[in-house]
Amino acid sequence: MPRPIEALIHVDAVRHNLTRARAQSPDSRVWAVVKANAYGHGIERVFDALRGADGFALLDLAEAERLRALGWRGPIVLLEGCFEPRDLETCSRLNIAHVVHCEQQIDWLAAHKTHQPHHVFLKVNSGMNRLGFTGAAVRGAWARLNALPQVEEISLITHFSDADADRFGKNGIAHQMAAFNAATHDLPGERCLANSAATLRHLAEAGVRADWIRAGILLYGSSPDFPEHTAEQWGLQPAMTLRSKLIATQNLQPGDSVGYGSLFVAEQPMRIGVVACGYADGYPRVAPTGTPILVDGVRTRTVGRVSMDMLEVDLTPVPQAGIGSEVTLWGHGPQGSLLSIDEVARSAGTLGYELMCAVAPRVPVQVAGEPA
Ligand SMILES: *Cc1c(COP(=O)(O)O)cnc(C)c1O
Repeated sequence: MPRPIEALIHVDAVRHNLTRARAQSPDSRVWAVVKANAYGHGIERVFDALRGADGFALLDLAEAERLRALGWRGPIVLLEGCFEPRDLETCSRLNIAHVVHCEQQIDWLAAHKTHQPHHVFLKVNSGMNRLGFTGAAVRGAWARLNALPQVEEISLITHFSDADADRFGKNGIAHQMAAFNAATHDLPGERCLANSAATLRHLAEAGVRADWIRAGILLYGSSPDFPEHTAEQWGLQPAMTLRSKLIATQNLQPGDSVGYGSLFVAEQPMRIGVVACGYADGYPRVAPTGTPILVDGVRTRTVGRVSMDMLEVDLTPVPQAGIGSEVTLWGHGPQGSLLSIDEVARSAGTLGYELMCAVAPRVPVQVAGEPA
């Protein structure tokens, strides 16, 4: 028998979450963001659930080729654009739109021989200061692109750094919207604006016109602004369950410690369970004692340090648990129980994004509802 750990992908939840994105912004077209192998869920697994999107956004040409191989003929956009000139040939061949965020990418386009003019997304740096042309440089870049026979359509794209919270006295996206509008107000072209957090929190605000939104994390059922809002409060359903089983139990006496570094010491007699899941499966090693976890659908806590292949749990609230009991690291447990990936991530000092992307290749993945 293989190790009992597995990830389950809930494709119906992905379908539902796409519907949520649409309902949030009925007049926008929706890019389903499927970078990083659909945030760890598997492009091939979620493709059918996301067919209702208007296009797919990703970073890697190999992932774009996988979408074309699945039969997707609609729009695809590369969110970081091309990494070298010959990527443009693949874009021409597969009809892939791409971001243009720097002068060099325009140079490559100008030198590119194509029979199929490209749809480009001119990236405006409205304050994130990662990629894109600053306000003063946007018009020059637009004019250069507009003069190229290789370019058929120029859309405008920007990305928000603080759509999930109001920080530094700034109101979410307002300062970036002002910078974007100032740089682009008299340029034609579609506007591609909002990530999940902006889609859920800011699209109704004045001055925000999004012809396209870019839905990422919300499709996978994690809340972009947890703990201010839970996924449930946003009407999102978790798309991934990570589950395993107990492979041993131990009875501890006061003073007994658990695992490497003896980080947890029992204060009274207690029973613990040993779970077949560790950091080599993608569970965060930094998750401290007290990280929430379900055993037989009952909420309890981890104890001691997460090791490569195992972690330990307090069985006090689940006295009936034993070898073979089901353990839910996150997602759906037995009897309708649920543990949000966002809660686990928060305990480990990270985000649901990182946990879902980090599930290791050695973990078998099943589509929920499909026979094993
Ligand atoms: C990843 C990404 C998104 C999606 O962000 P979420 O927070 O997951 O919705 C949107 N736009 C760009 C440019 C991205 O890189």
